[in-house]
Amino acid sequence: MHDLSVSQAIARTILKQAKEKRVREILSVNLELGELTFLNPEQIHFWLKELFKDTPAQGAKIYIKKIFSRIKCKKCEYEGSMSLRDDSFFHIYFPLLRCPRCNSTSLEIKTGRECLIRRMKVST
Ligand SMILES: [Zn+2]
Repeated sequence: MHDLSVSQAIARTILKQAKEKRVREILSVNLELGELTFLNPEQIHFWLKELFKDTPAQGAKIYIKKIFSRIKCKKCEYEGSMSLRDDSFFHIYFPLLRCPRCNSTSLEIKTGRECLIRRMKVST
Protein backbone atom coordinates (compact mmCIF):
# COMPACT_ATOMS: atom_id res chain seq x y z
CA MET A 1 0.00 0.00 0.00
CA HIS A 2 2.97 2.23 0.53
CA ASP A 3 3.69 2.08 -3.20
CA LEU A 4 0.12 2.99 -4.06
CA SER A 5 -0.11 6.01 -1.77
CA VAL A 6 3.20 7.36 -3.01
CA SER A 7 2.11 6.78 -6.61
CA GLN A 8 -1.09 8.70 -5.92
CA ALA A 9 0.89 11.62 -4.54
CA ILE A 10 3.22 11.59 -7.55
CA ALA A 11 0.32 11.37 -10.01
CA ARG A 12 -1.51 14.20 -8.25
CA THR A 13 1.52 16.45 -8.44
CA ILE A 14 2.13 15.69 -12.10
CA LEU A 15 -1.47 16.16 -13.16
CA LYS A 16 -1.81 19.36 -11.17
CA GLN A 17 1.25 20.79 -12.88
CA ALA A 18 -0.10 19.74 -16.24
CA LYS A 19 -3.40 21.44 -15.57
CA GLU A 20 -1.83 24.66 -14.35
CA LYS A 21 0.41 24.85 -17.39
CA ARG A 22 -2.39 23.86 -19.75
CA VAL A 23 -0.48 20.92 -21.05
CA ARG A 24 -2.22 18.91 -23.72
CA GLU A 25 -0.22 15.78 -23.31
CA ILE A 26 2.49 14.49 -21.02
CA LEU A 27 5.00 12.55 -23.05
CA SER A 28 7.36 11.31 -20.41
CA VAL A 29 8.09 11.53 -16.72
CA ASN A 30 11.43 10.96 -15.03
CA LEU A 31 11.42 9.94 -11.41
CA GLU A 32 14.17 9.31 -8.94
CA LEU A 33 13.63 6.90 -6.11
CA GLY A 34 16.04 6.39 -3.28
CA GLU A 35 16.51 2.80 -2.19
CA LEU A 36 15.79 3.80 1.40
CA THR A 37 12.28 4.90 0.48
CA PHE A 38 11.53 1.16 0.33
CA LEU A 39 9.51 1.75 -2.79
CA ASN A 40 9.40 -0.85 -5.51
CA PRO A 41 10.03 0.81 -8.89
CA GLU A 42 7.99 -1.82 -10.72
CA GLN A 43 5.02 -1.24 -8.45
CA ILE A 44 5.30 2.52 -8.81
CA HIS A 45 5.42 2.11 -12.57
CA PHE A 46 2.37 -0.12 -12.50
CA TRP A 47 0.31 2.20 -10.30
CA LEU A 48 1.24 5.31 -12.24
CA LYS A 49 0.10 3.66 -15.46
CA GLU A 50 -3.22 2.90 -13.74
CA LEU A 51 -3.58 6.37 -12.28
CA PHE A 52 -2.72 8.04 -15.58
CA LYS A 53 -5.57 6.35 -17.44
CA ASP A 54 -7.92 8.91 -19.01
CA THR A 55 -5.64 11.79 -18.13
CA PRO A 56 -3.22 13.85 -20.27
CA ALA A 57 -0.51 11.53 -18.97
CA GLN A 58 -2.16 8.44 -20.38
CA GLY A 59 0.52 7.78 -22.96
CA ALA A 60 3.43 9.01 -20.90
CA LYS A 61 6.60 6.98 -20.70
CA ILE A 62 7.67 6.54 -17.12
CA TYR A 63 11.36 6.37 -16.33
CA ILE A 64 12.42 5.52 -12.82
CA LYS A 65 15.98 5.90 -11.70
CA LYS A 66 17.01 4.23 -8.50
CA ILE A 67 19.26 6.23 -6.25
CA PHE A 68 21.56 4.14 -4.13
CA SER A 69 22.02 5.01 -0.53
CA ARG A 70 25.02 6.55 1.14
CA ILE A 71 25.22 6.52 4.86
CA LYS A 72 27.67 7.69 7.43
CA CYS A 73 28.02 5.82 10.68
CA LYS A 74 28.30 8.08 13.68
CA LYS A 75 30.05 5.41 15.67
CA CYS A 76 32.75 3.93 13.46
CA GLU A 77 32.88 6.59 10.74
CA TYR A 78 32.00 4.10 8.02
CA GLU A 79 30.85 5.91 4.93
CA GLY A 80 29.34 4.19 1.95
CA SER A 81 26.40 2.20 0.79
CA MET A 82 24.12 0.09 2.91
CA SER A 83 24.79 -3.17 1.07
CA LEU A 84 21.16 -4.03 0.63
CA ARG A 85 21.64 -6.79 -1.85
CA ASP A 86 19.52 -9.30 -0.05
CA ASP A 87 16.01 -8.03 -0.52
CA SER A 88 14.27 -10.43 1.84
CA PHE A 89 16.49 -9.35 4.68
CA PHE A 90 15.76 -5.81 3.74
CA HIS A 91 12.01 -6.26 3.99
CA ILE A 92 11.99 -8.15 7.23
CA TYR A 93 14.12 -5.59 9.00
CA PHE A 94 12.32 -2.75 7.36
CA PRO A 95 12.84 0.18 9.71
CA LEU A 96 16.12 -0.98 11.17
CA LEU A 97 19.04 0.44 9.31
CA ARG A 98 22.37 -0.69 10.57
CA CYS A 99 25.95 0.08 9.79
CA PRO A 100 27.36 -2.79 7.71
CA ARG A 101 30.66 -2.55 9.55
CA CYS A 102 29.84 -2.16 13.25
CA ASN A 103 26.07 -2.80 13.32
CA SER A 104 25.33 0.54 14.95
CA THR A 105 21.97 2.14 14.21
CA SER A 106 23.31 5.62 14.75
CA LEU A 107 23.52 6.62 11.13
CA GLU A 108 23.42 9.74 9.12
CA ILE A 109 21.66 9.15 5.83
CA LYS A 110 23.23 11.17 3.07
CA THR A 111 21.36 9.84 0.05
CA GLY A 112 18.76 7.21 -0.62
CA ARG A 113 15.64 8.94 0.64
CA GLU A 114 14.82 10.75 -2.56
CA CYS A 115 11.46 10.57 -4.17
CA LEU A 116 11.58 13.17 -6.87
CA ILE A 117 9.91 14.12 -10.08
CA ARG A 118 13.02 15.09 -11.91
CA ARG A 119 11.71 15.93 -15.34
CA MET A 120 8.54 15.99 -17.39
CA LYS A 121 8.32 16.18 -21.14
CA VAL A 122 5.08 17.67 -22.38
CA SER A 123 3.41 18.92 -25.49
CA THR A 124 1.18 21.96 -25.36
ZN1 LIG B 1 29.60 1.76 12.04
